[in-house]
Amino acid sequence: VLLYLGALAGDAGQRFEAMVDRGGPLGELVQWADLSACLTILGHNLTFSTSQRQLHRLIGAAPGQGSCPIQRPLTFDLIYTDYHGLAHLHRAMGLAFQHYQCRFRILDSFGTEPAFNLASYAHLHGYKTLWGSWGLQPRQYMTMFPHTPDNSFLGFVGEDAVKTKEEFKPESYKKDNIAVIYGKQEYMWQGKSDYLEVISQKLEIHATVYQPPGRASSLPSFIKNHGLLTQENFLQLLRRAKVFVGLGFPYEGPAPVEAVALGCMFLQPRFDPPHSSHNDGFYKGKPTTRQISSQHPYAERFVGKPFVWTVDVTNGTDVREAVESILKTQVRPFTPPEFTCVGMLERMRRYVTQQKLSKKVFKSSVKNSNKLIETAFFSSSVLFLSQNLVLNFCGNSTAVWDPEPVLTVLLGPLGQSCVDVCRRSALTCDPALFHRLNTPDTFTRIGLGCSSTVQEVNHLFPSYSPWGRLCGLQQEPLLFSCAGLDSSHRRLCPCRSRYE
Ligand code: UDP
Repeated sequence: VLLYLGALAGDAGQRFEAMVDRGGPLGELVQWADLSACLTILGHNLTFSTSQRQLHRLIGAAPGQGSCPIQRPLTFDLIYTDYHGLAHLHRAMGLAFQHYQCRFRILDSFGTEPAFNLASYAHLHGYKTLWGSWGLQPRQYMTMFPHTPDNSFLGFVGEDAVKTKEEFKPESYKKDNIAVIYGKQEYMWQGKSDYLEVISQKLEIHATVYQPPGRASSLPSFIKNHGLLTQENFLQLLRRAKVFVGLGFPYEGPAPVEAVALGCMFLQPRFDPPHSSHNDGFYKGKPTTRQISSQHPYAERFVGKPFVWTVDVTNGTDVREAVESILKTQVRPFTPPEFTCVGMLERMRRYVTQQKLSKKVFKSSVKNSNKLIETAFFSSSVLFLSQNLVLNFCGNSTAVWDPEPVLTVLLGPLGQSCVDVCRRSALTCDPALFHRLNTPDTFTRIGLGCSSTVQEVNHLFPSYSPWGRLCGLQQEPLLFSCAGLDSSHRRLCPCRSRYE
């Protein structure tokens, strides 16, 4: 397995690296570290690279060899990379890129929805962005949090290692009356002084903001700033803190999961209206239509109270009441099962075995991970992938189920995605089941009389449009999308139990 961190290679890599100890993003590195640990434990042979020149050597590319510069068959069964790395591979491989693209797995924190993935479609329908348009199988994109089942949820490990080694000892999580602010750089604090002022009336406020040498701090005087800490010291500070406070940015990072795992509550801003690629500079150009309802929608939706408190931070009364409730609440350290070491290992094992390449990889992985299966059992609901499904990205890409899950076909209301339609019935949308309902009889079976039925390349299909009673079937399998939604379509959704 090759792990190629494109974000750390070349000029962009130098910029990224320079920011690592100055408050720049670290979430991706947390994920890469955990991914490489998991693959190693599962018994795979890893090669790790952050250099474009080394990449050329590893894949046997000779520069200037026409459209197919690869000199020998690729020796890697799997290549994990990111969007930057994908572009490097494309340049290095020429035509061989297409031949081998089923072996690529893309670490893509925020996700790539099918509408953005297919270049011709994205171009024609306004979904063309800086990052999308590679035409891979949508499940080759691996996300930081479970955004949509169209992609694969990779995650990371947020668990407190100390807790797993020994029995839980309350004295190691003795809480002081302190809040730690989530924000490594000063610009993240702008416009937040009223919010912080309210919190400071009840709690001592600590920060880990990078302070450039020779520059005076612009943080409010009541803040105790430790400067950027090593991760070990940062986690020690969280272990003493009662609450971890979100300022609204960074979005969807690992730190709130770590904080809750260390017995902190997480207080964060609600976004109303939600942030999205239409109204927010950070999401602009990202290949997703997601509506971000708070700084950390996963924490809000999947963890929630008493661990996660989402408030309108412009309303002092709301903030005060939340802080008072937090001070009256006692929580134990909590790690959602999908963010434990074993949870991530089990998920990775299933990805390597179920998102198949060849019999060889499938068999060796199963052998190496038998021990894990004996020691842990995780239901599909916490792994966010079905245990009965095998996908073959190379060659025949149709899904093989053993056994076939019970399919529940649901017709959503106008403007709702299948992610939400299935979730509201305590089910999960499974894109691998779309082909079973993408037929004219499905409309008849659920009692919809279609005045006409069309088959089109459209990421909203299969769906029903009440105006004119139009029924639409999907023509392009790459566009089957759990995430797609639109105010004039009622989506026809393939839902299954979360436990299958
Ligand atoms: N972190 C750290 N030192 C600090 C603050 C944070 O090492 O002073 C770590 C933290 O434990 C987490 C990582 O930085 O694992 C990334 O956290 P964050 O949620 O801030 O994501 P980012 O925005 O950096 O991607």
